[in-house]
Amino acid sequence: MSQLNFRTYQRRNVTRESGYHTCKETTGSECIVIHANRCNINQNEIFTFKKNNLHLKKTFGKNSSILAFGGYIYCQKSINITYDLSYIKNKKTFNYTINQTTPLNANDWNNIGFHKLIEIENYPLLENIIIKMKIATPDNNYIDLIGFDINIIDKSEFEDEKFAKSFYQKTNMHIPHIYYLNTTLPIKEYLISNQQFSKGQLVVLKSCNRCGRFLPINIKNEINTLAFSLHCKKQAPCKHSAFKAYKIQNKINKQELIDFGIKIENDKVISYYGHQLECKACKKFFVNTPLNPQRNAQQFKEDGLRRRAIEILINELLHTNLIHFEFEKKTRKQFAEYIWNKFDHKCFKCKKELTLNEMNLDHTMPLAYLYRLDDTATCLCSTHNSQKSDTFPVDYYSKDELIELSKITGLPLKKLQSKEINKEVLNLLVKNVVWFYDDFLMHPEYQKKRDGILTANKINDSLKRVIANKVDLAEEYKKRTGHYPSSITIIEK
Ligand SMILES: [Zn+2]
Ligand SMILES: [Zn+2]
Ligand SMILES: [Zn+2]
Repeated sequence: MSQLNFRTYQRRNVTRESGYHTCKETTGSECIVIHANRCNINQNEIFTFKKNNLHLKKTFGKNSSILAFGGYIYCQKSINITYDLSYIKNKKTFNYTINQTTPLNANDWNNIGFHKLIEIENYPLLENIIIKMKIATPDNNYIDLIGFDINIIDKSEFEDEKFAKSFYQKTNMHIPHIYYLNTTLPIKEYLISNQQFSKGQLVVLKSCNRCGRFLPINIKNEINTLAFSLHCKKQAPCKHSAFKAYKIQNKINKQELIDFGIKIENDKVISYYGHQLECKACKKFFVNTPLNPQRNAQQFKEDGLRRRAIEILINELLHTNLIHFEFEKKTRKQFAEYIWNKFDHKCFKCKKELTLNEMNLDHTMPLAYLYRLDDTATCLCSTHNSQKSDTFPVDYYSKDELIELSKITGLPLKKLQSKEINKEVLNLLVKNVVWFYDDFLMHPEYQKKRDGILTANKINDSLKRVIANKVDLAEEYKKRTGHYPSSITIIEK
């Protein structure tokens, strides 16, 4: 099946720095199965975790850092957890109590953790960090623990302030995955209290195709999700192989899994609903945030949802970031301003002076033909931007204009005179056609109807228009999977 071809583009060498796809080994269809750590608890049990020191790190463009703690916990009877946090900074001791009074689900897994914003000032070192996880419980209870870690949030993308908004929105729904902690540490790594543990229940940790972490799914009660959202919640069971079947990567007694009630086929754990390839955190930051860009004048003005979808699609396939993310990260300068300066603050077509806000970024080579917006963009006024829209430069500009445009953008004249679809992206799209239909177009935004038409259909149709004479994507999908994609409406001929 398509699994082998799936996302093979991730193994390409990418010269351009890409902060998002840190992981080249995981496709989202692997798992490891391990035992949780079980502990019998009675009233007011305290688990004490300690780390000797932590180096603070600037986060979200501010001189502050975020300390995070979290893990996954199963409790037989419902419990309540509060935390005490203390640390030494510049020889002073700080103490905090964190109250999260919601009782945890009984007989089920729970995502837990908290974070604390710490001003760095001139003292970037914390010492003697102690977290007391205080559990109030009925008698004769037990808990299973997995994936506990304490650390400073240290993800290079988070240096940038533009991720702050997303981080602080619905934060509680995404704890602890949102912290990008290590989920595979032994429980005793930082635990200094003397609880005794025995072998707990089996847990399936599935890979994320973005961050590469192995994070838990709730295999016995998938509806109560842990680190991954479900793939086919409404149309269960999930029939998408990459989303529902996870190849087991570690040595484990298969019979034990079966006895525990986990379904296995060909060394793969089978999930009923299927799960997303990206963990909830990666989905939140790197899929949903670019999809709903914060409106500001310098960003794409031409971005209807369909066009934006194609822009995101191309960047996903090429393994790059949207240009305005990538650009600012590299040069700390607004992409739009760079283009504006390059064109001397004038519309390239009519030479009218433009303010930065008046400028429209034109793709030069058309988006519809799978060219991404990059630093070869053209500065146009709104009239000429809408006039040019998706035409090739050669159909819109005179010979002299093409020569001048080649000089300014750095695109070879030959390229500007060509009328070719972007073959590299097209090949990647064909190679990743199962991903395109089963993941990309399955995004809830694209599964919404607008003016009575499914957005996924619009995206699919506009791609079809430009590539139909080369390849039929839906047929290509059918060749690999044996059926037509369910993310679009197919009218059979
Ligand atoms: Zn992830
Ligand atoms: Zn599915
Ligand atoms: Zn103009």
